[in-house]
Amino acid sequence: MEYRNLGSTGLKVSVVGIGCNNFGRRCDQGTTKSIVDKAIDSGITLFDTADAYGPTGLSEEYLGKALQGRRQETVIASKFGSPMGEGDLMRGASPRYLINAVEASLKRLDTDYLDLYQLHFPDASTPIEETLTALDSLIRQGKVRYIGNSNFSGWQIADAEWTARSGNLNRFVTAQNLYSLLDRRIEREVVPACQRFGLGILPYFPLASGMLTGKYTRGEAPPQGSRLEQWGGRAATALSDRNFEIVENLTAFAEEREHSLLELAFSWLASLPYISSVIAGATSPDQVSANAAAASWKLSAEEQQQVAEISKQ
Ligand code: NAP
Repeated sequence: MEYRNLGSTGLKVSVVGIGCNNFGRRCDQGTTKSIVDKAIDSGITLFDTADAYGPTGLSEEYLGKALQGRRQETVIASKFGSPMGEGDLMRGASPRYLINAVEASLKRLDTDYLDLYQLHFPDASTPIEETLTALDSLIRQGKVRYIGNSNFSGWQIADAEWTARSGNLNRFVTAQNLYSLLDRRIEREVVPACQRFGLGILPYFPLASGMLTGKYTRGEAPPQGSRLEQWGGRAATALSDRNFEIVENLTAFAEEREHSLLELAFSWLASLPYISSVIAGATSPDQVSANAAAASWKLSAEEQQQVAEISKQ
């Protein structure tokens, strides 16, 4: 396993992380524990969860239990801001809300501190100064080590950076956005902003919900129990002709070089210098083993270019 710095910080994270949004939803406590143990034993250190996963708190609760006795071996990233109940007081990025939210996350995770605390979505109704001031106080109190954003646009990243600098506040060190070989839209604005200000990117949906694992075949029903089978009609966008065409071409490219599509999906992201960790979800320990081993293909500059061309189709 390769370890890299989380953005421009001194904190090291494994280049393959675990996205924990299956915990409490697709995975019970026992499966969660077996996934977490397999991950740590495979060298994975970063676990990305959110208060809203599970639903409402269950992912953090399961992760906290699964990490008992192993907290020191791991880096926990969580998020706040998504609705945790009815009404405007149960969501968002206001100081009133987030100071309560962090306490609830710490309790569910059964830990004294979070390594990374991320704003899940921009909150247009709260001035970013207020959010950054409250997050800065959490760092000063030792409840949080670093802060990050998620689903921000390029200008929102730049705005938050300059607000933090001018107020002498701690700044966002990571950006978590949708990014994979099937969706590269963040390369237009978000990636340049992160490179300019030294934020590390944590790509979510790196496997396009499984499309980039090789388990879905054009013209065939999704495998039983898979995510896209469970989604039913909602899976149509993921299972589109455009996506299958790219997947088929990427598979051929990987196989010609004696690699798999899964290895290409991880290794292409890991080859980008602005990626800190690829936080893929998993529903079994076997998937974790495969994913932990999938980021070690060192693509040449020429191969990176060829892959970029295929995936832009
Ligand atoms: P993903 O990583 O693109 O896909 C994960 C799914 O692919 C798994 O649940 C599993 O699905 C399948 N899979 C994984 N490894 C596999 C393997 N080796 N072989 C075959 N199938 C495999 O999507 P994700 O888990 O939804 O996203 C990753 C993480 O990003 C989340 O857990 C969460 O932490 C984060 N996230 C953040 C946001 C945000 O707004 N910030 C939004 C979404 C997600 P099945 O076994 O069920 O088929």
